Amino acid sequence: NKKQREILRSPIVCILGHVDTGKTTLLDKLRGTNVQGGEAGGITQQIGATYFPSQNIAVEIEKCNQHYPAELKAPGLLVIDTPGHESFSNLRTRGSSLCDFAILVIDLMHGLEQQTLESLNLLKMRKTPFVIALNKIDRTYDWKTEEFASSYISFKNQSKENKNDFNHRYNQIITQLAENSFNAALYWDNPDPKTYFPIVPTSGVTGEGIPDLLSVVIKYTSMYMKSRMVVKQDAFNCTVMEVKKIDGLGVTIDAILVDGTIRQDDKIVLLGFNGPIKTKIRALLTPYPMKEIRVKAEYEHHNFIHASMGIKISAPDLEEAVAGSQLYLANTNDEEQTAIDLVMSDYNQVKKKVKLVNIGVGVAASTLGSLEALLDFLEKKKIPVSYVSVGPVSKDSITKALKSVLADDPKKRKQEYACMLVFDVKILPDAQKYAEENGVKILTANIIYHLQDQYVKYVQECEE
Ligand code: GDP
Ligand code: MG
Repeated sequence: NKKQREILRSPIVCILGHVDTGKTTLLDKLRGTNVQGGEAGGITQQIGATYFPSQNIAVEIEKCNQHYPAELKAPGLLVIDTPGHESFSNLRTRGSSLCDFAILVIDLMHGLEQQTLESLNLLKMRKTPFVIALNKIDRTYDWKTEEFASSYISFKNQSKENKNDFNHRYNQIITQLAENSFNAALYWDNPDPKTYFPIVPTSGVTGEGIPDLLSVVIKYTSMYMKSRMVVKQDAFNCTVMEVKKIDGLGVTIDAILVDGTIRQDDKIVLLGFNGPIKTKIRALLTPYPMKEIRVKAEYEHHNFIHASMGIKISAPDLEEAVAGSQLYLANTNDEEQTAIDLVMSDYNQVKKKVKLVNIGVGVAASTLGSLEALLDFLEKKKIPVSYVSVGPVSKDSITKALKSVLADDPKKRKQEYACMLVFDVKILPDAQKYAEENGVKILTANIIYHLQDQYVKYVQECEE
């Protein structure tokens, strides 16, 4: 029977939200369920991700069985750590988001914050379904803790004063969300799951709400991704998250294998700063599960790996690899040609976010995701762009970027366009010198919205 032999893919879930809302703490607490749930299955820390096997999850969601039964059919959940907003930008696969589902963490004490709003808009743009973890419930007035309990049950044991305090804060947040065109409601009280996003009250400190959070994630992922949960025979989908130099391995890439199977001797194609990179995998790696402390080597070698998984690839010629690029298999000549075309069309698709014009600012970014975010911003602000690149800024890129501006008489030229917006990449020394000599302003930042602020300020200076 064909149906029975179907391999199910683990849903990919990412956690995002404003800094200090408790993303890391919640994730640590989720990992702590390993200890809580006893021996069953080993939760493994992966490359930029954590893999939760279904046995561990089952123990937790059991606690919600009475009021909110959910059943996990996939082998587990792959939860992606997104340390900052920018790295979430890299969670893109061909044309959409790499995440099947997201957990947006909001601090109950602070309500909606800058990055919460940005995350909300990003999720909306990518059409990623999500749950809101309303975190730090233990900080409400007179909270009585029961570690790792369902927060639905915890709430029943709270005083009237606590309920007043919680409801007051909760209603404020619901209003703020509504002001931004998002309907949301407590998951156990949801008037319409199709149009209202579920809210789960949580505490990263006491672990309360972890069972509820997992139940909601399981329920919604099986609802939203039925067909996408089956690993297809010839499907392959893999996204480069980071490019890293590792002692003994050289330059490596960290990637999320979203669908399909990757093998140790595969030939691959991905985007480089100067065009497509063709290379052959030297080693296919994952970190050892946390419990195997006796193992001396840091990474476990594999002959093959199935999706979904966080993986590290060691291969020659990865120095110029671009994070955010899709990675394609290229084992035959045909595959290689297709892969090269796809890599370039991915890049061109991002570049097409803006129409390049003769007179406009230049843009350089370190990753495809950050480039996309920057171009979105520039388009929204109607700032013309003359040139786009990923990778280090050379003298040549400045010349190309600002050709028309530089040709103008410095006294008459539109100074606000004599500017390069540089995100998280090196500026080569001769480029810096050339820019200074020619009255070109180079703005640099490691956080996208800082770069946006800097440009707004620069334009004001130009006008004065
Ligand atoms: P992140 O920046 O979103 O990863 O936030 P962290 O996980 O680093 O948490 C920021 C701070 O909030 C830390 O001091 C945590 O101990 C604290 N924190 C996180 N979650 C909770 C919670 O549920 N309750 C309380 N009282 N503190 C929390
Ligand atoms: Mg953190």
